[in-house]
Amino acid sequence: MSLLVIGTMAFDAIETPFAKVDSIIGGAATFITLSASFFVQPVNLVAVIGYDYPQETVDDLDRRGVNIEGLQRKTDQKSFFWAGKYHNDLNTRDTVATELNVLADFDPIIPNSYQGTPFVLLGNLTPSVQMQVIERMKDRPQLIAMDTMNFWMDIALDSLLETIKKVDLLTINDEEARQLTGEFSLIKAGKKILSMGPKYAVIKKGEHGALLFYEDQVFVAPALPLEEVFDPTGAGDSFAGGMMGYLARQGEVTFDNLKNAIIYGSTLASFCVEDFGPRRLLTLTKDEIRQRYLAFQQISAYNQTLI
Ligand code: AMP
Repeated sequence: MSLLVIGTMAFDAIETPFAKVDSIIGGAATFITLSASFFVQPVNLVAVIGYDYPQETVDDLDRRGVNIEGLQRKTDQKSFFWAGKYHNDLNTRDTVATELNVLADFDPIIPNSYQGTPFVLLGNLTPSVQMQVIERMKDRPQLIAMDTMNFWMDIALDSLLETIKKVDLLTINDEEARQLTGEFSLIKAGKKILSMGPKYAVIKKGEHGALLFYEDQVFVAPALPLEEVFDPTGAGDSFAGGMMGYLARQGEVTFDNLKNAIIYGSTLASFCVEDFGPRRLLTLTKDEIRQRYLAFQQISAYNQTLI
């Protein structure tokens, strides 16, 4: 089944404790579509880019089964720009700059051919634009998932809360879950998110895995203990892309499918962090995804013996 994705397509400036890059392709939708295209095609993209976003990347996405009919290019404006600096633990970062540019007046036009897409992933961007996408889908999709970040909590909390009410699944990282709910305990935070509207909540914990909340159940997914993390940028988006790509491939939302989806999401995220920006996703193969997916079970499998 197909998947509709909206999100930023950007240039990023990234500084980690080991390296620095002043300009590299990024943005939530770039990571999401690259990750999701391993699982499902077409991935119906809705996004906006400026004159500076490389056509080769757009052509590459097209070749990978990403439908670019809903991609708008503004020839008189620059693409969204984000600069971030990671702390020594690589799990936390500061946003150094956010320049909305083309995003400031983005009108997300949904092509007719996208109507009826059963799975929708509202990647990180302006909450009111995420809401417009929900409103512009003529039939209610089977599953609407949404990702967000602290930037939008700081500048657009009311419209963010309105949008959260309308989605089935929210993915959010640990720090942001605490900010959104005012709860330090992630278990309490997850439960509180479920009371805000979504049926499912996923809290991403960087190198410590992810938590899935549904009714009164919690599923704990590990993260692979990687020896080297080069650049965490896009890990959350790759996670969301892998997760929703798998769900759209399966076509059915069950708690069991969601558990697998989260392991696939973690798999994609674990590759993403191995190189700057989306570079590693560009060389990734399905075989590598399969092998690492299997490794997730091995790292926490053991034979139980009761004392
Ligand atoms: P992640 O590391 O998965 O949280 O995603 C990082 C990506 O999100 C970067 O490539 C940025 O271009 C993009 N990004 C940063 N800030 C925002 C924002 N406020 N809204 C949407 N996308 C953003």
